[in-house]
Amino acid sequence: MAELKKTRPQNKVGDFFVDTSCIDCGTCYWMAPDTFIHKEGQSAVFHQPDSSNEKSKALRALYSCPTFSIGHTQKSSLDKEVEASFPFPIGDPKDSIYLTGFHAENSFGATSYFIEREGIEGPKNILIDSPRFFSKMAKKLCERGGAYYQFLTHRDDIADTDKYFEAFSAQNEPKRIIHKDDATKDSLKSYEIILTGHEPYQLDSETLIIPVPGHTRGSCALLYKNKYLFTGDHLAYSMKLQQLVAFKRACWYDFTIQIESMKKLLNFSFSYILPGHGAPFESTPENMKKELEKCIQWMES
Ligand code: SF4
Repeated sequence: MAELKKTRPQNKVGDFFVDTSCIDCGTCYWMAPDTFIHKEGQSAVFHQPDSSNEKSKALRALYSCPTFSIGHTQKSSLDKEVEASFPFPIGDPKDSIYLTGFHAENSFGATSYFIEREGIEGPKNILIDSPRFFSKMAKKLCERGGAYYQFLTHRDDIADTDKYFEAFSAQNEPKRIIHKDDATKDSLKSYEIILTGHEPYQLDSETLIIPVPGHTRGSCALLYKNKYLFTGDHLAYSMKLQQLVAFKRACWYDFTIQIESMKKLLNFSFSYILPGHGAPFESTPENMKKELEKCIQWMES
């Protein structure tokens, strides 16, 4: 729980505040950009939400903050409503894509996504990376059939994958997926699908896994319905630069190889980028290619 006595002096005084435990993961900046801002190395409230829409966004950020660093003093029925709104829908409603919220500190607050979909023999839902384990969230996901696949974009965002796996195992046989080059000794032995090599892997008719080494050796993106690209830490949208970017200072393997992986994405069509860190980005497939080319030029400069 955020502590009022540890509130940052950079906050605008009022209902919402950020305390000194913030790890500057960036989640609140994109979830509630009308309220939170990066200030002197951590987050701060620069504008107190004054409409129910702004307040709902600020509360979504509060429930997603991995370190419980956001607090507010004037509780209302909206708190429970917003907590209950996760998994929260994004994208085209007919595609049933959701933000799970409840980001984990051990994935540095990475965003996790849930795709709800039916298969011939039952739900074939996909959990992309992992939120922190929260029994209410596990129960809600189980009520929707759990996850048939638990896909991990890379080693940094594993978080509470195994706890969710246990919860889902009570009703089906989930398959955890990670690339061999990012697997730990334990996951190499116990995970159900271990990817190898750099060729795309067709998971099923609407889901393609594309290895994109660079940020880590075993980073992978997941392309769903040729429309949604879940990119982990390979590719993100910078609200500051207003363009697609890669994290050069947070590249743990090889940035030159990451540029080659970025070029590989030009061969695919998609209109949403759903990253591990930062805001989702939407555009037409044609414009997305132009944005990607711009990003590659920026990476090479
Ligand atoms: S979500 Fe929490 S940890 Fe992340 S920047 Fe905001 S206050 Fe800090």
